[in-house]
Amino acid sequence: MALTGQILPELKRIVGTENVLTTPEDLIPYSFDGTAGLRQMPGCVVLAKTTEQVATILKLANDAGIAVVTRGSGTGLSGGSLPSPDCVVLCTVKMDRILELDQANLTMLVEPGVTTLQVAEAASAAGLFYPPDPGSMKISTIGGNVAENSGGLRGLKYGVTRNYVMGMEVVLPNGEVMWTGNRCVKDVAGYSLKDIFIGSEGTLGVITKVLLRLVPKPPAKKTMVATFGQMDQAAEAVSAIIAAQIIPCTLEFLDRTTIHCVEDYAKIGLPLDCEALLLIETDGHPAVVAEEAAQIEKICRDHGCLEVRVAKDEAEAAKLASARRTAFSALARVAPTTILEDATVPRSELARMIRFVEAIAKKYKLKIGTFGHMGDGNLHPTFLTDERNHEEMHRVEEAFKEIFAEAIRLGGTITGEHGVGLAKKSFLPKFAGDAQMRVMRELRRALDPRGVLNPGKIFD
Ligand SMILES: Cc1cc2nc3c(=O)[nH]c(=O)nc-3n(C[C@H](O)[C@H](O)[C@H](O)COP(=O)(O)OP(=O)(O)OC[C@H]3O[C@@H](n4cnc5c(N)ncnc54)[C@H](O)[C@@H]3O)c2cc1C
Repeated sequence: MALTGQILPELKRIVGTENVLTTPEDLIPYSFDGTAGLRQMPGCVVLAKTTEQVATILKLANDAGIAVVTRGSGTGLSGGSLPSPDCVVLCTVKMDRILELDQANLTMLVEPGVTTLQVAEAASAAGLFYPPDPGSMKISTIGGNVAENSGGLRGLKYGVTRNYVMGMEVVLPNGEVMWTGNRCVKDVAGYSLKDIFIGSEGTLGVITKVLLRLVPKPPAKKTMVATFGQMDQAAEAVSAIIAAQIIPCTLEFLDRTTIHCVEDYAKIGLPLDCEALLLIETDGHPAVVAEEAAQIEKICRDHGCLEVRVAKDEAEAAKLASARRTAFSALARVAPTTILEDATVPRSELARMIRFVEAIAKKYKLKIGTFGHMGDGNLHPTFLTDERNHEEMHRVEEAFKEIFAEAIRLGGTITGEHGVGLAKKSFLPKFAGDAQMRVMRELRRALDPRGVLNPGKIFD
């Protein structure tokens, strides 16, 4: 339904005129997210500041049957916060307060618009650690992280956002405010409802507060970079590190194309005469870190690595880590359109999957730079293309289909951390199967019978 009649004055009354955007030039920045090729102008954008405002807006929209698309910073890579036509974009970036840091229970209570980096810095200032670190952490919001169940570079050892959410306040589509979860380390009273909202991509409710779990800060860390002449050697070194029961906090890789783009962009001094680069970080007690680092170095050498460079100090460690953190931005400079995917396979299938992506690049005559969370089996084949070239975009789509089919065949998934949104929607039924699709549909219908929250995302 179009945004007509009393809705706009009502929205202005709820949040104030200055927090309702309606002019085309104000709406354009909200008409896309980080996903290439998707654009749609919303009906209006509303910047809410309180839970009460969110609840009133949802009740109003639900009664009027108007679609609401919740949005954090819009860095999503599956089109999750892309507006639907004439919808209200409900942006949470002004709900940006850290409400409490509880040293006794090691928790932090935050509003959804706080950035991941702000959470990490506030935890660190208190001598604590918030591990999830998506590459977008400088700008992505905690609300977006929870709604996507985002991963990051430390996922291998520390897990993903879900592992750090103890509870949340969520506004249901009818405007009802609900708390789920609490500060208790153990709680089995009823269904774990908070887990339904984690990764729900804005389709089941609007998260208005998050209770995060913090952990002690690791006292020591070592960062190293190992380079390999063949991609297979790097993949096998990763398998050997895990098989030796060493779980580094970071085990990331870059392929040749990505290494060259990063070096061109960030001038880190990376070796360019290699096919693959591993960024490895181990953290914990200093003695354990030293021992693990020595073992990792030996394993890399045993697998034919060309060079291992161990950071001498924090500054060098940050520089080496930036090789991975800048990978997406570096690739994005090379072609007008950058499509980043996150096909994920069991770790034992990594080498096979990487070879498959390389073969697909050749078959479809496409340029693909691949990097990713090697330790998690989470690959980011990144297509460097041009959305104006329709014939090439067709080849990109065909290549995707083959890559996802292969990931499923190898026991993997169509998305390890970016979510389904619009981008992966057509692949979900094949991956999830009839029973899961039916349960997901029934769950959504139960919570949002009028279908107002983020319609068309994940599934129709
Ligand atoms: C350079 C770059 C690097 C990235 N690196 C990573 C990475 O390492 N790991 C990773 O997992 N992702 C990564 N991403 C993807 C993206 O940053 C994450 O998905 C992030 O969590 C999105 O946060 P956001 O605030 O931008 O959310 P948005 O993009 O605004 O929204 C994402 C989804 O969450 C929903 N949503 C947002 N806020 C709320 C709320 N309060 N309540 C309910 N639903 C809500 C939206 O409706 C949408 O479906 C990267 C993106 C970029 C551009």
